Amino acid sequence: MTHLRTRAVHAGQHPDPTTGAIATPINQTTAFGYGTLERGAAIFAGEAAGYRYSRFANPTVAALEAKMADLEGAEAAVAFSSGTAASSSVLLGLLNPGDELVFLGPLYGGTESLLRSLGERWGIKVVDATVPGLSACLTPATRMVWVETLSNPTLRLHDLAQVAAVARAHGAITVADNTFCTPCLLRPLACGIDLVLHSMTKYLGGHGDATGGLVAGSEALVGNIRKTGLGHVGGNLAPQEAFLFLRGIKTLPLRMAAHCEGAAAVARFLASHPAVRAVHYPGLPGHPQHALAQRQLQGGFGGMVSFELAQSERAVAAQVLNRLALFTQAVSLGDVDSLACHPASTTHSFVSAQARAANGVTEGLIRLSVGIEHPDDLVADLAQALDAVH
Ligand code: PLP
Repeated sequence: MTHLRTRAVHAGQHPDPTTGAIATPINQTTAFGYGTLERGAAIFAGEAAGYRYSRFANPTVAALEAKMADLEGAEAAVAFSSGTAASSSVLLGLLNPGDELVFLGPLYGGTESLLRSLGERWGIKVVDATVPGLSACLTPATRMVWVETLSNPTLRLHDLAQVAAVARAHGAITVADNTFCTPCLLRPLACGIDLVLHSMTKYLGGHGDATGGLVAGSEALVGNIRKTGLGHVGGNLAPQEAFLFLRGIKTLPLRMAAHCEGAAAVARFLASHPAVRAVHYPGLPGHPQHALAQRQLQGGFGGMVSFELAQSERAVAAQVLNRLALFTQAVSLGDVDSLACHPASTTHSFVSAQARAANGVTEGLIRLSVGIEHPDDLVADLAQALDAVH
């Protein structure tokens, strides 16, 4: 199985040995009978293979973890009840008081807020290296470097091979949130990154009906995160949700191709409209990191587009958003349905005004998650909304 499209369908899944069921059964059970005291003791001691309690492991969830480890090229993966549970488990599982975490932004507002509040409450210093650069912010206490592979909402990139090399030379663990790219466009571990993280809620599920997160990397790192995040925090993914992700991932490569095609068409249209001042899309030649995007991403530039209105005011953004018919106003992203939001009043409303300004999250910024509808219909919807404010 060399092609991602084939692995997305088959990896981690086998017909059920007892019934032959092709779809992985939903193992809706809390505990697993272990038969004898001796076998129970061996499972609990880690001396025998076997399931014991779904907070620690469940066969449906394990199939999903195996599929994602395969797609990301990782030794191991662990699934969580949300992307946020995955992020907090990485932080709590791998860092100690006195450690420093450096991030290259902009990050999803919820992640930045969690790193800062949870980290700082537990004595972990959190440093924003976006402007000064990574090398300028590393200290002997730096233990972790955090990036997003395409950042939310202004779609910036970091050179992952470079970030990995600098961090590794310094002895720091690198974490890349690959939610926006998915393994279809980018596999961070192949660039030397240590851990890849997902909000599976987005493209991996793809249908806007399940919340989940995942971390993949080496057995050793993932084992520590699993122990803390599942054993102590209890952030495990439910088997019903794991089933939805297993099903969603089978069509991920097909959906990502349609998202990329639609987003490219939307970005080109927006760049030509007089009511739009700037378009953020790494596939456009004018994007400041277009060359890096061409080198680092494979098969497309993603399904997210954000743009800045010529009249950068909340009232004008409201006029445009409130006129859209095919794009539903909602946060989240990566669904087959197109979604639109105003980051300053929603996803980034809980980061400081200063941080919003530094990251280009203005009152006139609109973020689109381009779905798999026909691009012509999406462009027509945007045209009628933008024409009204021009
Ligand atoms: N990472 C990114 C890039 C996100 O956009 C989000 C949510 O929007 C998260 C992590 C958090 O994921 P979840 O909402 O599944 O907790």
